[in-house]
Amino acid sequence: MQTSFTLAQLADPDVAESEKILRACVHCGFCTATCPTYVLDGNELDSPRGRIYLIKDMLENDRPATAEVVLHVDRCLSCLACMTTCPSGVHYMHLVDHARAHIERTYRRPLSERVMRAMLAKLLPYPQRFRLVLNAARLGKPFAPLAQAIGFKRLAAMLRLSPWSGPQRPLAPQVFKAAGPRKIGRVGLLAGCVNDILAPQINAAAIRTLTRLGVEVVLPEGAGCCGSLVHHMGREHEALAQVRANIDAWTNLEGLDAIVITASGCGTTVKDYGFMLRNDPAYADRARKVASLTKDITEYLLTLPIEASQNADGLVVAYHAACALQHGQRITRQPKELLLKLGFAVKDVPEGHLCCGSAGTYNILQPDIARRLRERKVGTIERLRPDLIAAGNIGCMTQIAAGTRLPVVHTVELIDWATGGPCPPALREYRPRSVMRPSVTAG
Ligand code: SF4
Ligand code: SF4
Repeated sequence: MQTSFTLAQLADPDVAESEKILRACVHCGFCTATCPTYVLDGNELDSPRGRIYLIKDMLENDRPATAEVVLHVDRCLSCLACMTTCPSGVHYMHLVDHARAHIERTYRRPLSERVMRAMLAKLLPYPQRFRLVLNAARLGKPFAPLAQAIGFKRLAAMLRLSPWSGPQRPLAPQVFKAAGPRKIGRVGLLAGCVNDILAPQINAAAIRTLTRLGVEVVLPEGAGCCGSLVHHMGREHEALAQVRANIDAWTNLEGLDAIVITASGCGTTVKDYGFMLRNDPAYADRARKVASLTKDITEYLLTLPIEASQNADGLVVAYHAACALQHGQRITRQPKELLLKLGFAVKDVPEGHLCCGSAGTYNILQPDIARRLRERKVGTIERLRPDLIAAGNIGCMTQIAAGTRLPVVHTVELIDWATGGPCPPALREYRPRSVMRPSVTAG
């Protein structure tokens, strides 16, 4: 694609990077076929190619964002299916991240949106604040249909997504010693913000599995949200502050083999720290180091000598490939290989490249599109008639669970269970059909 940025514009490293990305696009439109928003409505402006044109026009002319640009960029899930499909290697993620930051700087949203976005940015990344929100949401949850009926769709979406059970306390910084006589590794674990409060069983399963296999797990002082929640809202200063805090926390630790992450949305962002801080001389090297150490939990576990100690007896698992894993990190094989090795029968979900509609705070900010994507996803999963659904990201788990009665678990909960850990809570509470066979009910 031809571009016409001036030399003065290209002196800005972010503009220079976006120009490089824009020039790689050859307008072929292959990406439209796998873009969830285009698949739903067929609007070119809600396709990757359409958004690329809008962003190019905005950046090239150095214009404040218009309502039209904001509408179509906001509808983008950042699922990155377009990057998997693109034959020209267009780095859409960095382009849309730049566009979002530009929008945040130059566009004044309506008051209600500003309040909603500020609330999400100031509450969700902070576990103690998020716990208070969830406690309040539990009281309001029965009123979700009423909120929907009177037009408060975002509030209704938030209430529907909040769990009935009480939120948990975040994991304190500590070291979990490797079990057994031989320590074979030492990793840092990103406890995460939402992950740790909504579903503490996920990190607990990861810690049990790792320590059982002989790996020491460290949760360092000072690490927190990975920054992705605010990063995807274009709030760059807040995102980079969170990124720097994590880099400080992890690079203070000696002898880490990996930084392990159980939420794939966070993993994609942490693996991009080197790019995010490339222009910060005080952090660039350490950011690259942290990014190169970062592994999804399944990526790391597959390097260890893992064996089943209990028979999963062919329990049928519909494996939902989280976008951040399959498109963001190109991890497609590892989770399924581990589940198969441990005795589960794994079914791929048709249209697996399409997002479930979760996408960070998307299911709150764009509730209609998110609902339609969830219905489509749950339909394709339920037609497989699985015993349960597994995914590698808390966002997908919450989104899908809000639309189905099938149990939804994290992949690492199944791995932990099959290697000697307790039965995942979602399966304990769900008893129809073949789930809870005697041979797999340990714990
Ligand atoms: S990131 Fe996803 S929603 Fe956004 S343009 Fe690409 S495919 Fe479409
Ligand atoms: S597939 Fe790639 S090159 Fe083709 S239009 Fe989409 S982004 Fe551009």
